[in-house]
Parts: sequence; C-alpha cells; structure tokens
Amino acid sequence: MTQEKTEAVVLRSVDFSNTSRIVTFITPNRGKVACIARGVRRKGNRQDPLLDTMNRLEILYYWKDGRNVQQLGDIALLDSYPKLKRDLERGAYAAFPLEVALKAIHENEPAELPYGALVQGLELLGQQSEEPRLAVCRLVMQMLGACGFAPEMDCCVRCGAVVPPAPGFSMEGGVVCRDCRYDRRLSRDAYTVLRLWCMEDADPEVTPALLALHDPRPALSAELFAVISRYAAYQLDTSFRSVRVIYDMFP
Ligand SMILES: [Zn+2]
Repeated sequence: MTQEKTEAVVLRSVDFSNTSRIVTFITPNRGKVACIARGVRRKGNRQDPLLDTMNRLEILYYWKDGRNVQQLGDIALLDSYPKLKRDLERGAYAAFPLEVALKAIHENEPAELPYGALVQGLELLGQQSEEPRLAVCRLVMQMLGACGFAPEMDCCVRCGAVVPPAPGFSMEGGVVCRDCRYDRRLSRDAYTVLRLWCMEDADPEVTPALLALHDPRPALSAELFAVISRYAAYQLDTSFRSVRVIYDMFP
C-alpha cells in the first residue's frame, strides 16, 4: 500500500453504510479514483462538507493495486467554485462536464489533459462575461477531444469527400458530405465554431473560437449544445441526467 497525494475534483459522492461515503474523483495521474471516506457522515464531521461534488481538493489516499475502492486520508479544499454553486444556471451547466468526466475517463489511467481542461473550464464558467451554454459546449468538446472522442471536422466521415460550408453531421464521428447519410445538418456558423474548437487541441494559438464566446448568439449556442450533448451521449453510450435537467430548467 502506498500513500499518494494529488489534486482532484469531486465527480460523485454516494452514501455507504451509516457513516461513510464512496467518493469518485478525477485526478491528473490516476484518472478516475474511487475512495471510501470512512466516518464522514457522523455529525459534525469536518471533512464531509469538503467532499461536495465539483470541489477541487488536495487529497491523500492509500493506494493498493487491484483494489476498486481506495482509502481516503487527509483532504484540503482548493476551490469550491462558489460562483457556480450560487448561480442556478451556471451550476446546472457545470454538472454536464462533470458527468462527461465520469463516463469518459478511465480508472488508473493518466488524465492530465481532460483534468486540466475541466479545471480551467470550470474557472471560466464562473466568470460573468462567459455565456454559460457556450462555455460548457467548448469545455465538453475539449474534454471529448482529450479523451480521444474528437469528431472528424474536415472531410466527410463516411466517404472522405470535401464537405460544404453547412455540412451534415453524424453522431458516429463527424461531418458528412451532401451525398452521405447524416443525423442532422449544421449551420455554417456552428460548423465554423465546432471546427475551430477541435483545432484548438492541435494548436493552442488558435483563438477565434474564444472570440465567438464573447459574441454569444442564442440560436448558435442552442444549436451547438444540441449537437454536442447528443454527440457526447452517442459516443459515450449513455444518457446525461445533467442535460435533461438543463433542458427542463432552461428550455
Ligand atoms: Zn460523403
């Protein structure tokens, strides 16, 4: 058994026995890590409030190979994202990338890129200047890209042909030409922004997509959110509770 200390974000916390919780973290070096936090549900426990979903912590745990649930030791709060938790809309949107992390990131595999994207994205989402729906769309695309689920955005994913400025889009993997089967059409603007977001992974100097975030147009962000949430669900073979909540609360 080795003692490991790392930064981590709380993805999920589930009651276990009368006094404990199983907490799932995302960490840069070990990806997803589930830990048992013993005794935290006892009255007056000081650790328990720190284990709130979305909190960024420094954690110490006792790692043992082959064990599904590790034992949690000391924890310290780094950020509780009060701006997101106080704001109903931003808080609801923030739940989506956390759910993506839970599904897309594996256990005991390095996850530096998606971890970095998540922490930076949550920070941005808390800023009033950011339109929450667009900020979350970009964050989820970055996380999908960092986990190997980036869609093909240049050539038709079915036949390799050049795609028109407002191409089709297939949930199986990216843009589609006029002659091949697609799930939905992308508007010219949505295609431009999605393509730039995908390119950002390869070249961090590409900033026009960031500019798009500062010129929010409701129709564009609604289209991007619809495409990205459906694409993420298809690719990760799941349905996102957070997305249903977002549509219920902010139709
Ligand atoms: Zn085609």
